[in-house]
Amino acid sequence: MLTDYSCDRCRFSISKLKEMAETGEKFSTTGGRTMISVKEVNSEKGYIVFTRPSFRPTSAFSIHDLKLVHDLIHDGKIDNDYEQIDEIFPIWGNYISAILQHLGCSSRSFESIIREQ
Ligand SMILES: [Zn+2]
Repeated sequence: MLTDYSCDRCRFSISKLKEMAETGEKFSTTGGRTMISVKEVNSEKGYIVFTRPSFRPTSAFSIHDLKLVHDLIHDGKIDNDYEQIDEIFPIWGNYISAILQHLGCSSRSFESIIREQ
């Protein structure tokens, strides 16, 4: 189980997800029009639940699968794009894309950002 994973390339970590659930920290979907948040994180059972814009909770999503998408983005295999994520996990693209963007997960390396300046 991913009870204590922490990425050294962005703010993704199990403790950060738990903190977001505790504080109700809000973040926007990719389009930027709606705010969602994390309702519950259960690292022992390995799932995360989001709060929809309507305030109703989503069903549970696997933290393992969330990290899988996170890894694919860092590895440059996919972009942090809800349509691409939807192809892997249908209907979850918006939520996963939003939280990973909020945590700063990107395929662009720090070096490439520096080179552009
Ligand atoms: Zn990361």
